[in-house]
Amino acid sequence: SVQQAEGVLLPRYVRVNTLKTTVDDAVDYFKRDGFSYLGEANRLDDLDLKAKSFVRDLHLSDLLVFAPKTEFHEHFLYKAGHIILQDKASCLPAFLLNPPANSHVIDACAAPGNKTSHLAAIMKNKGRLFAFDLDAKRLSTMSTLLLRAGVRCHQLAHQDFLKVDPSDPQYKDVEYVLLDPSCSGSGMVCLGTDASPPDPEREQRRLGNLAAFQLRCLNHALGFPRLQRLVYSTCSVHTEENEKVVAAGLQQNPGFRLVHLLPVWPERGLQPLSQCLRASTTKTLTHGFFVALLERHSDAVSRAP
Ligand code: SAM
Repeated sequence: SVQQAEGVLLPRYVRVNTLKTTVDDAVDYFKRDGFSYLGEANRLDDLDLKAKSFVRDLHLSDLLVFAPKTEFHEHFLYKAGHIILQDKASCLPAFLLNPPANSHVIDACAAPGNKTSHLAAIMKNKGRLFAFDLDAKRLSTMSTLLLRAGVRCHQLAHQDFLKVDPSDPQYKDVEYVLLDPSCSGSGMVCLGTDASPPDPEREQRRLGNLAAFQLRCLNHALGFPRLQRLVYSTCSVHTEENEKVVAAGLQQNPGFRLVHLLPVWPERGLQPLSQCLRASTTKTLTHGFFVALLERHSDAVSRAP
């Protein structure tokens, strides 16, 4: 069920696209545009902003934070691809995966591509970024978005990720995977929805199907031979799609373990998976979200043939 969050107003988060500009230049542009810059935030309360003021985020250095409902869709910087309008929580996966320039990376369920463009920025457009999605319409939106963002290191494929062959030689150097599969979307704050409450039995069946799909994707992704690090994320608040999927994936792939993420982050995965992060309107001023980072054990690598 989508959170009924009438009255919840989240800050407007603006990710600076470092393929096209710098944070300092974007800050200067907004200042000239009449916004007042209050510097770098020190605590979450600093993100509670009045109209026309903005700060730099305390956790993510490429992120600027404005008052709720600040409208940028017609703004020059948005149209020119210098800024991406992306919720703070959804900036975590690429930031935490942090693939270096020249690495080979898979974005398994990529459209409409906000995280793909973030990965490309972190990779400085160098290396190979294989992006897959099943949905043709979302892929065409994605092409437009990546073009505007100046992403050049990607290879976009209309393909079922579950059918991508991990032993295909073109993926032999893939060390990083971002897996952001379809989920219930239960963390997305929908302002003013008045949809009727879903039938609980149907909802439970739907969650079960989604979780089974997510676990298949996770198992498939962990099968890439040179994989070192994988980020799993959803915009769901349900433990069935989050901690339970990750726990099952770890159990079925004993060569991988969880990485303890961002000790300063205020909301953790549910016990015992406190290495993972959660996000919510109340604790992090974002949509509801979940992120886990899995890495291959070094001893597992040395035992590999
Ligand atoms: N990562 C995207 C972003 O940040 O913009 C959002 C991804 S969205 C949560 C999940 C995507 O997975 C959808 O676009 C859906 O079409 C795609 N998808 C679902 N099943 C898939 C499959 N078997 N293979 C590849 N993509 C799939």
